[in-house]
Amino acid sequence: MSRKIATQLTQGTNGTDDGNTGSVVAPLNFSTAFRHPGLGESTGFDYSRLAGPTRQLLEGQLAAIEYGTHAFATSSGMAAIDLVFSAFTRSGDHFICSDDLYGGSFRYFDERQDKYNVQYDKWNGINVDDLLLKIKKSTKLIWLESPSNPTMKIIDIEGVAKAVHAIRPDILIAVDNTFLTPIYQNPIKLGADVVVHSATKYLGGHNDILAGAVIVNDDKLGAILQEELTTTGQTLDSFDSWLLIRSLKTLHVRMAAHTANARYLAERLPTLTGVDKVLYAGVGGMISFYLNDKYSVDKFLRALRVCSFAESLGGVESLITVPYIQTHHDMPVGDRLALGITPQLIRLSVGLEDKDDLWDDLQQAVAAAKEDKE
Ligand SMILES: *Cc1c(COP(=O)(O)O)cnc(C)c1O
Repeated sequence: MSRKIATQLTQGTNGTDDGNTGSVVAPLNFSTAFRHPGLGESTGFDYSRLAGPTRQLLEGQLAAIEYGTHAFATSSGMAAIDLVFSAFTRSGDHFICSDDLYGGSFRYFDERQDKYNVQYDKWNGINVDDLLLKIKKSTKLIWLESPSNPTMKIIDIEGVAKAVHAIRPDILIAVDNTFLTPIYQNPIKLGADVVVHSATKYLGGHNDILAGAVIVNDDKLGAILQEELTTTGQTLDSFDSWLLIRSLKTLHVRMAAHTANARYLAERLPTLTGVDKVLYAGVGGMISFYLNDKYSVDKFLRALRVCSFAESLGGVESLITVPYIQTHHDMPVGDRLALGITPQLIRLSVGLEDKDDLWDDLQQAVAAAKEDKE
């Protein structure tokens, strides 16, 4: 990408109207079928599971902003994760993942293990030497999410990529970049091979598109992914592709505003009696905090007026989740507690409302959560 990211985001998909209308923004093309000029000829589009003009435009944009050469837009973040594992692992393979991940990723990994005999080990994300010790001959892939979800641990992606590739250049380093987005973290520049997004979150940014993305910077990996996606068909539809193109135009502005609001709240939340500990990575819009044991999580959630108690993150509306009973519910209780995912842990996706309205809402909801009896 030669231009700066703000220019790429706002203009990278424009000027692509092939009808010579001069339209500033890209048109939306719904066609699933494309006429062939003659036998053995193609316009480049044949059938939209393989490629369609609107999805292709989005995929070019996703590749550009993540410093990749090939991108694939999928029907959800889970479909993106499935695309990576279907394309790059088979029965008997092994992979390693960081231990504090999106809960749905663990559900997926357990299914891979049980149904498809793809075994995995967890790594705590701290000491790279410990990670190297877990590598086996059959290890195909290392899966990282940083900052971790929901406890905001930071993983040294560059350190992992360097150390692993020095001894095993064939092992793919895959990063779920949903939380920080390319605005704050560029895994491919840090040495990763595969970048994954739940575009439902910040890339979409408005709590109204379910989508995913996989980005690579290698032709061979790109060809394998294209083949897999063509075969399995978990592609993003034209309309959601167009909406995502539109959403991406403001990604840089939204991320800066999410960060400003989150910093404001992360500074103030520790001053509240009723809040024991606040976890924040310093950038982005995700904050986790522990409500004191003397405070009721249920009362806190019921008292919210601006924030919504709802599962998801990364949108303009502030959402609050309780990972213990929502996103991480499928994880064994012992594992949850070992990671600090207790019933009192609250995850806040800070939206773009006025920062003082958010602060007032959290203050009054925490106050309302105090149990009467000590
Ligand atoms: C939500 C999420 C996913 C799954 O994406 P969907 O779009 O819900 O399928 C994967 N990884 C992370 C970090 C997420 O937050």
